[in-house]
Amino acid sequence: MGKRALVTGGSGGIGAAICRSLARRGHDVIVHGNQGAGRVEALVREIQDAGGEARGLILDVTDTGRCRAVLEELADERPVQILVNNAGIHDDAVFPGMRPDQWQAVLDVSLNGFFNITQPLTLPMIRGRWGRIISVTSVSAIVGNRGQVNYSAAKGALHAATRSLSLELASRGITVNAVAPGIIETQMSEDHFPPEAVAQLVPMKRAGRPEEVADVVAFLASDAASYVTGQVISVNGGMI
Ligand code: NAD
Repeated sequence: MGKRALVTGGSGGIGAAICRSLARRGHDVIVHGNQGAGRVEALVREIQDAGGEARGLILDVTDTGRCRAVLEELADERPVQILVNNAGIHDDAVFPGMRPDQWQAVLDVSLNGFFNITQPLTLPMIRGRWGRIISVTSVSAIVGNRGQVNYSAAKGALHAATRSLSLELASRGITVNAVAPGIIETQMSEDHFPPEAVAQLVPMKRAGRPEEVADVVAFLASDAASYVTGQVISVNGGMI
């Protein structure tokens, strides 16, 4: 039977591919967005038109109180069994010139957002004795990237949180993993990586497609991945 899935940042480039992939596998997908209500609605309709189940959810992942209230209500209705923490922003600057608000905003969405979304959903997930928590991180957290001290700190913290949470939940039928993409063809990367840079940085000499990230997320969300937990899986064309 299809599970209930929540994909944060589901209206974005990689998030939309994850939503489509989970819906195709029969899951009931909650497409989450922050400000892009139009894009969320369009994706929900696209999934429904293709015969899948979906609905939208607009929520700022940095708003701790509102996340708790909304998600507790959602889980009371039916627990979320597949959670994909994909919402993330970057705001790059070399470190000596990085403003405090750039540091805080990036940590607030990626790291505090992980807490605000995951924590209220964990107990209902435990009660169901089956769950998948997957965070979309970045190669930047593994090898580092100039100008991204804030971003790699936030994503690296998610790797550490993934490991600890996986230990807490291992005996409850819940796996906790991270997927670390390299350079993926989206708005986020197009502004930063011209084709020459991609050819130089990536052994496969191309950017990845959002679907190539989504397929790994869908695998981790499946029964086939039931013995995989506490791992960071890279999807980066051989960058490391
Ligand atoms: P995107 O900008 O298209 O999507 C980001 C999503 O995060 C959007 O849907 C946005 O609504 C959501 N978001 C931002 N701030 C939010 C907030 N305060 N509250 C709720 N939602 C918020 O980016 P993308 O390229 O699809 O990236 C998805 C994830 O993949 C991100 O976590 C990103 O860091 C990671 N990533 C992307 C690449 C890449 O090359 N595109 C590489 C490595 C990792």
